[in-house]
Amino acid sequence: MKITDVITHQLSCDVETPFTSSRGWWYKTKGALVVEIVTDEGIIGWGDCYGPSAVAKSVVDTLLKPSVIGRDPFDVEVIWELLYNKVKDYGLTGMTISGISGVDIALWDIIGKATNKPIHKLIGGAFRTDLTAYATGLYFTDMNRLTETAVEEAIGYKEQGFPAVKMKIGLGSMKKDLARIAAVRDAVGPDLLLMVDANHCYNVPQAIAIGREMEKLGIHWFEEPVSPEDLDGYAEVTAALDMQVAGGENEFTKFSFREIIDRRAMDIVQPDVCAAGGITECKKIAALAQAHWIQCVPHAWGTAIGLTATMHFLASLPECPPCLVPQPPMLEYEQTHNPFREELGGDLFSHKKGVVKVPTGPGLGIEVNREILKRYKVA
Ligand code: MG
Repeated sequence: MKITDVITHQLSCDVETPFTSSRGWWYKTKGALVVEIVTDEGIIGWGDCYGPSAVAKSVVDTLLKPSVIGRDPFDVEVIWELLYNKVKDYGLTGMTISGISGVDIALWDIIGKATNKPIHKLIGGAFRTDLTAYATGLYFTDMNRLTETAVEEAIGYKEQGFPAVKMKIGLGSMKKDLARIAAVRDAVGPDLLLMVDANHCYNVPQAIAIGREMEKLGIHWFEEPVSPEDLDGYAEVTAALDMQVAGGENEFTKFSFREIIDRRAMDIVQPDVCAAGGITECKKIAALAQAHWIQCVPHAWGTAIGLTATMHFLASLPECPPCLVPQPPMLEYEQTHNPFREELGGDLFSHKKGVVKVPTGPGLGIEVNREILKRYKVA
């Protein structure tokens, strides 16, 4: 089989309710870069790249596509190394790896369709076919009703049956953050798993101070306490706190995760399959983590394509550690309105009490809706 074309679809849509995190920019539109790989046998594979879609498009179109055309999709790891080695001399990690991720996911989709197997069967099989999903939300929307909106939203997820919820923090004041977390904890009760995500808005002493207070509120993990460049800081925060520290959504390839894992700078690593290097690379990152008994719980924020790729990857992750009552890695299920997640691949993600079924069809196991692609395509 030979790859005959690589087509990129840059999508954009308006956001119903603009929102922000501690990063401070308001999301008023959402973008996505969908990669379509065509073969001479008529099999088509789909991939998804994380990050600014125009940049991802340029990476795939100009840097990667010429090296992919004519290759056999089954040489997925060979292609990964070829693409990586082509770009590494320019220090192009980040968005370049995001582009490689989209290509890699599409290749796995093709291999699955060609062999009539779901991707998880090709990467070791499923340790689980039901995934526990946690709701990601509680962004900052109405700056005058920050606590009220967070409480209302959290109660809504609890009523839908989600066993776990992740909320944003980082209001420029630990007092405000803690009051808002305490109000949510009070509203949902002690049994719901509650995680917080600071999107790296704190320095080390602040992160340790707020972490100690959050431990009293039974917070399950503290995500991105400090800046991703500050690995020493991560290691300090992780060592200082009893609670689990998570991070890694802005790390790329096994090489950056090697440092983090080797230094035990995080308790939970969160590679994104659409950013860190696709399924091929994330399997290696997960193996590095397992070898150090560090949990791998992937970050997910993309389209239906990215989310299903994440589901196959999650299905293939062993328990860490294996035990009578394991704590399987959860699926991050982002809850802001996003037609690229909700409509692009059909209704795969309806959950029952926070449980999502891993797709069993060939490849990713989704049928990409070309009408939706057409409706939102901007380039
Ligand atoms: Mg995050």
